[in-house]
Amino acid sequence: MTLLVLVFLAAGCAPKPPATVFQNSTIDALLDGNYDGELTFGELKKHGDFGLGTFDAVDGEMLALEGEFYQMRGDGSVSRVPDHVKTPFSAVVFYQPTGHEFITGPVDYTGLQKRLDGHRTMEGHAYAFLVDGRFTSVKVRSVGKQKPPYPPLADVVKTQSVWELADVEGTLVGFWFPPSMKHVNVPGYHFHFITKDRKRGGHVLGVTVDRVKTSRQSLDAIHIALPAQPPATRAVSDRESELHKVEK
Ligand SMILES: [Zn+2]
Repeated sequence: MTLLVLVFLAAGCAPKPPATVFQNSTIDALLDGNYDGELTFGELKKHGDFGLGTFDAVDGEMLALEGEFYQMRGDGSVSRVPDHVKTPFSAVVFYQPTGHEFITGPVDYTGLQKRLDGHRTMEGHAYAFLVDGRFTSVKVRSVGKQKPPYPPLADVVKTQSVWELADVEGTLVGFWFPPSMKHVNVPGYHFHFITKDRKRGGHVLGVTVDRVKTSRQSLDAIHIALPAQPPATRAVSDRESELHKVEK
């Protein structure tokens, strides 16, 4: 009996798992053309089951959902990511949503972001968001594999492929990072999308919501895995507009 009580007490006192974003490298290093993957997806999976990122030589957009990692390439193909493949930049969490909301559209991307804003009660924290359901339209893009010497990301996206998916079921996976983190990760909202049948997807440029369920997780820490070699840097006069070109 005594033993049982002790077990219950121990369980009650156990600290909650930390709500930590794990990422390798920084968005600034990626913008500067540091596309050589340093971290394997096998390693990345130890740090989260939900998130987004890219691949060695920016060979497509990455989305992780429920522990499955997907590669959404510039040719429109979607496939599972083998553990040996490497990433130059990804961000993941162990997704533990704290609440949800149903939204009935039509609601555009700005309207959706305003609804999600209402759930960001800790202004200084980052947030993970999941939006699952039916969309009237989703505009996604992906980029093709690059060859060294790598061009900056702002040049890579000039050759991106863009697709408009109409009347589609699927899931948005993404983050909101505070403006103060703009050299670390993309400030504001950043979503990747994958269809329910896991056959299409990419980096989100726009959506119109039909009927969806949203959920979120407040994140109070970031763990950044640093590369062995320092990333190459360029002198950039206006990184904010460069980031806007790349992400929006
Ligand atoms: Zn993206």
